[in-house]
Amino acid sequence: MSTPKLQLYNTLSRQKEPFSPINPPFVGLYVCGPTVYGEAHLGHARPYVTFDVLNRFLTHLGYKVRYVRNITDVGHLENDADEGEDKIAKKARLEQLEPMEIVELYTNSFHESMRLLNNNHPSIEPRASGHIPEQIEMIQRIINNGFAYESNGSVYFDVINYSKTNDYGKLSGRVIEELIAGAGNDRRVLEGQEEKRNLEDFALWKKADSRHIMRWQSPWSEGFPGWHIECSAMSRKYLGETFDIHGGGMDLVFPHHESEIAQSKGSCGHAPVKYWMHNNMITINGRKMGKSLGNFITLKEFFNGSNSLLDQSYSPMTIRFFILQAHYRSTLDFSNEALKAAEKAYKRIINGLRSLRKMHHPGIILNINTELTERIDNAQKQAYDGMADDMNTAIAMASLFELLKIVNSLKGGQISWETISLNAFERLKTTYITFVEEIFGLLEEKGKTADTLDFLMDAILESYKNAKERKDYPLVDQIRAQIKSEGIVIKDSKTGVTWDYEE
Ligand SMILES: [Zn+2]
Repeated sequence: MSTPKLQLYNTLSRQKEPFSPINPPFVGLYVCGPTVYGEAHLGHARPYVTFDVLNRFLTHLGYKVRYVRNITDVGHLENDADEGEDKIAKKARLEQLEPMEIVELYTNSFHESMRLLNNNHPSIEPRASGHIPEQIEMIQRIINNGFAYESNGSVYFDVINYSKTNDYGKLSGRVIEELIAGAGNDRRVLEGQEEKRNLEDFALWKKADSRHIMRWQSPWSEGFPGWHIECSAMSRKYLGETFDIHGGGMDLVFPHHESEIAQSKGSCGHAPVKYWMHNNMITINGRKMGKSLGNFITLKEFFNGSNSLLDQSYSPMTIRFFILQAHYRSTLDFSNEALKAAEKAYKRIINGLRSLRKMHHPGIILNINTELTERIDNAQKQAYDGMADDMNTAIAMASLFELLKIVNSLKGGQISWETISLNAFERLKTTYITFVEEIFGLLEEKGKTADTLDFLMDAILESYKNAKERKDYPLVDQIRAQIKSEGIVIKDSKTGVTWDYEE
């Protein structure tokens, strides 16, 4: 089967476009990473699972992907309009810790959640605080080109001057005149905005006040970079002045990504990204789930069930499945019912995987059922077509359930092995396993928690004791040998039978 041509929806053109990388077979992918001042929540899981699957699918198609996802550890202020404290500095103040302790704590926690969700680690994970010289250099270039100005030790991007020759607002669909009119209503009333020539201008560098801990020397003041400039500087450093795909949540389109474009154009004269991709939000009762709204559930709370909004705990693979069953550009509404359905469906998919791994065609074919072959071919085609059509994981997942029906019918005997060709069975097996494991990144969760193991071992020890009482020594030896292969040994003593891990 030839692989269909990949199409991706580009936020910039508001349509699907054939994917054609700048320098094939290489693909540069940049995704905005977390601001590490708190636990990752369900809303964070969506972009990272979405772009992990994109990375996996591109790799499956033969592309060599360099996937860069940053860690924002400085410069993200509480408010998008350059107001308020730095989010990390504020958390550090409240918890009486060093800002870098906060950064380390939540970066580690983020990595742990990503590992549990089975997201592959990016090729490069740069930190904003480790790229201050690159950001200063970029800001200097923007000033030299006349698109930024210094004011009282801070530097701002001059949106109005930039808009005279450039299309500020193209990505987000905002019209500069409307932005100005909107800002005009409360012009100059916001605290800390007096330094700006226009309210639409955004900070590239902020002068640190005396209390501010995270600060660096620059030509303008001792201070710290604005939030948007880090992504421009780091993506340019690792992926070049123009690269293939920039991803993130829809909530980042404005002002973050709009400003990234302006900074790149303002410093080197051309647009940084060929394809802008944005995932839709996860809602809770129809409202966006977010830290600032206070209605979020952290990933750890999902994994251990410790949030009053949850009926039970949900495993990382259930969360991953929940995200993948919808197309990334559709909204996804959280509910316990939806997650329970996802849990069931995930288990069905994994049971199919376990069955398939054990299945081997007996090799005797009497009468090939061509309809069955067609069903397999169609499902395989649908899986690839779905992914090629702007990464529609919902369609691809549906085709796996079609293949699963065949797997279960083979297992149950409703479809006879004598009617399926060796090739068709191999196609079914390869497609199913490739999509589940390699492309969707769904793993079998063994559920072998300590409690389950104790429970299972109690049952095994009971059979062991019975076999001994009956003097069925072949069975006694067989039980010992089988569990020994799992690294567990049975210990007989005067007080009874127990088990230990083999030392
Ligand atoms: Zn970013």
